[in-house]
Amino acid sequence: MSQYELSGVGRSFMRGSVRIDAVADVELVIEPGEIVALEGPSGSGKTTLLQLLGALDRPSTGKVAFDGRDLAGLSESELAELRLRSFGFVFQQFNLIPTLTALENVEAKLAPLGSPDAERAERAKAMLAEVGLAARGEHLPTQLSGGEQQRVAIARALSVEPKVILADEPTGNLDSSTGAEIVDLLAGLASRHGTTVVVATHDVALAGRAPRRLPMRDGRLLEPVAA
Ligand code: ADP
Ligand code: MG
Repeated sequence: MSQYELSGVGRSFMRGSVRIDAVADVELVIEPGEIVALEGPSGSGKTTLLQLLGALDRPSTGKVAFDGRDLAGLSESELAELRLRSFGFVFQQFNLIPTLTALENVEAKLAPLGSPDAERAERAKAMLAEVGLAARGEHLPTQLSGGEQQRVAIARALSVEPKVILADEPTGNLDSSTGAEIVDLLAGLASRHGTTVVVATHDVALAGRAPRRLPMRDGRLLEPVAA
């Protein structure tokens, strides 16, 4: 059993009377710990596919199985549990809470897990140290550079030890050298923690830093790019 098994997956939307196949005919297997780049131009279906992988959306056709379970067969509370513990999300806009410090942003992610306060604070500190921000814990997001904010977002996503990190254009708001650093950091941390990473990007150079590249066009996966 693989971690993800997608068969015949499609997701369509109606725009007026026109059907848009945002994702179509996707067959995909991902093993635990793989680092995968989903690459394609804007509109190719990357975000839609990531949302299906993260149980944030349901396919119109086909099946998404995670750890051997068809996501369509899970209740809302089981899906919420998966999103909380098994999947970590990283976004282009960082999505930090502006009124909370770096440390508090990570702690906020841990709060629903219900561990004691001291343990939670320790865990958040350790995660910030892992992304190289031990000295920035008390800073607000506005006091951090874009690259630093994305590091906090990565620390937040990894803090619950998810099985998978789903990153949607995580470098879209960063210059190219900072973007490359962020992708390498994410890949390094993920391999240390055994976390699977699926990163969507329109940037071919960044995708080239991932061991497995899946090009996408018009909602469909093309033949993989040879490493
Ligand atoms: P990407 O992330 O690669 O830019 P998306 O997955 O966001 O691509 O979008 C793929 C296609 O599906 C686009 O044509 C987009 O306009 C369309 N689409 C995505 N989400 C919706 C939606 N909620 N309603 C209508 N069309 C959508
Ligand atoms: Mg997108």
